[in-house]
Amino acid sequence: MKEEHIDIAVLGGGCAGLQLIHQLAKHPLLQHKRVALLSDAVPQQRTWCFWSQHKHPLQGLVSKSWSKVSFRGNGFTKTECILPFQYHYINGESFFNYFEHDFIPQQSNLTQVTAAITSLKSNENGFDIQSAQFKWSAKSVFSSIGTSTHNQHRHALWQHFKGWFLKMDAPVFDDTIATLMDFSIPQNNDVRFIYILPFSAQEALVEATFFSAATYEDASYDRILDQYMAENYPGVNYHIERTEKGQISMNDARFSRFGTEGEVLIGTNAGMVKPTTGYAFHRISKDVKEIARSINDGTELKWNATKGRFRFYDRLLLGILSDTPHLGKVIFSRLFSKVPLQTVLRFLDEETSLWEELKIFIQLPYLPFIKQIFKQALR
Ligand SMILES: Cc1cc2nc3c(=O)[nH]c(=O)nc-3n(C[C@H](O)[C@H](O)[C@H](O)COP(=O)(O)OP(=O)(O)OC[C@H]3O[C@@H](n4cnc5c(N)ncnc54)[C@H](O)[C@@H]3O)c2cc1C
Repeated sequence: MKEEHIDIAVLGGGCAGLQLIHQLAKHPLLQHKRVALLSDAVPQQRTWCFWSQHKHPLQGLVSKSWSKVSFRGNGFTKTECILPFQYHYINGESFFNYFEHDFIPQQSNLTQVTAAITSLKSNENGFDIQSAQFKWSAKSVFSSIGTSTHNQHRHALWQHFKGWFLKMDAPVFDDTIATLMDFSIPQNNDVRFIYILPFSAQEALVEATFFSAATYEDASYDRILDQYMAENYPGVNYHIERTEKGQISMNDARFSRFGTEGEVLIGTNAGMVKPTTGYAFHRISKDVKEIARSINDGTELKWNATKGRFRFYDRLLLGILSDTPHLGKVIFSRLFSKVPLQTVLRFLDEETSLWEELKIFIQLPYLPFIKQIFKQALR
């Protein structure tokens, strides 16, 4: 088996791996390194949404942005302008097509190999990487491949969802407003809500999202979507153009910047999925940008996964949602009804001050949180 020598190996060609090679290419020093992108497959197509105050490095792939978002809870609907934030949508197909057809072919220092990595070992000069047919030696490795942490931790829920991309027979949507959570559906002892991204007055992604310990049969999501459409858009016919289905682990695993062989972890592997929301795209973008900058500058790698008090908050909420899922609707309703949405977004980005967090917490039902603090302390 012939061995190839490279400077930088990026393992996994999904959200994190591709965004990392995009960032590496921005630094003149790194354009002279031999980089290899090693991945077994393109991940299942998905929709990526995120909020941001600034232009994203892949802003050209954003096909729709909303500056107003809505929340529907117990007997109220709150719609608010979130500027200077905007809520952005990237279609997974555009993302992967851009890398495959535009970006990767233009990088003369980059090799892309389709391979399932079977072994990664460190040595005195760097790393040995192997697949069934290939062998590489690399000075540095950035890895988004690995095993799921879902079953290793005390608090683990699945965020699982199925969405319909709909074409309606009549103009029913306000396409200036994205609905992040509509809790008007029966909860059935889960946390359940509808998520709506309207692309035009007649087109939208309408998604049934659940947080629960187990995932469900396809028919459960379809039944809920069917009923929701009948109740909210009575008499309007629609056509389901395509569907999206997925599941994201929401768990309180302890992640790390480095893997067991000393490789740098990126993406889900590095704890970039916010445990209580499942959002990861923007955090991955910020992380790989910082990684590329520090390799170029030769500075120490930082790590911006959930840490400190935000990890504590996430563990409490995950604990409450696992033990008493019926409280999910109450807690989210209080949060969204009482706190300005820009503050909620900054809190979820872990950019609020302790004082702002105290002002958020006094709006929430405090007993479940106190009980959860004692429960976790006594374990
Ligand atoms: C359906 C869905 C929708 C989502 N929507 C959003 C959203 O709207 N907003 C948001 O912020 N987050 C969202 N997320 C969460 C998060 O952004 C994604 O999970 C993101 O893809 C994580 O990036 P990653 O690079 O860590 O993993 P992936 O994108 O899954 O990439 C990992 C790559 O590694 C490859 N690989 C795995 N094992 C090996 C191996 N042994 N050898 C070689 N290659 C290997 C895989 O084939 C894949 O290409 C969503 C997740 C899902 C599942």
